[in-house]
Amino acid sequence: MQRTLAILKPDSVGAGHAGKILAHLEAEGFEIVAIKKMHLTTEQAQAFYEVHRKRPFYGSLVEFMTSGPIMPLALEREDAVTYLRQVMGATDPIDAAEGTLRKLFATSIETNAIHGSDSPENARDELRFFFSRAELIAS
Ligand code: GDP
Repeated sequence: MQRTLAILKPDSVGAGHAGKILAHLEAEGFEIVAIKKMHLTTEQAQAFYEVHRKRPFYGSLVEFMTSGPIMPLALEREDAVTYLRQVMGATDPIDAAEGTLRKLFATSIETNAIHGSDSPENARDELRFFFSRAELIAS
């Protein structure tokens, strides 16, 4: 079993798609180990996306991620990191495969519904960014 971090982004939470996305993830075999709803500060969003600081879309991405509430999730499943990336689909919904979350719910390359960690190392760091050790103890 492996854990990964997902974030329901402000577009999907704001559109009322959180429940449908959670149901989709459970149907794909993910256990929701921890979940919260929060509104990121600019400083928090900048820190989370630090790796993208040099990219031209960094400012816009930080603005988007602070535009409304998000829902970070700790998810557990076999091969969770790779499997979640498949279930999410490509970054740009135009390129996302049929049936993927981004094909179903994303509206642009930026407002793309969901984040998923891209490696086990980043998953560990990103889970720690949002959740305490106590919150990550599975029930
Ligand atoms: P991901 O791993 O599929 O989420 O993609 P990246 O790590 O490359 O990018 C992080 C996030 O930045 C994406 O999920 C999008 O919200 C946003 N993003 C990526 N590429 C672009 C872009 O070319 N333009 C804009 N405006 N946003 C982007």
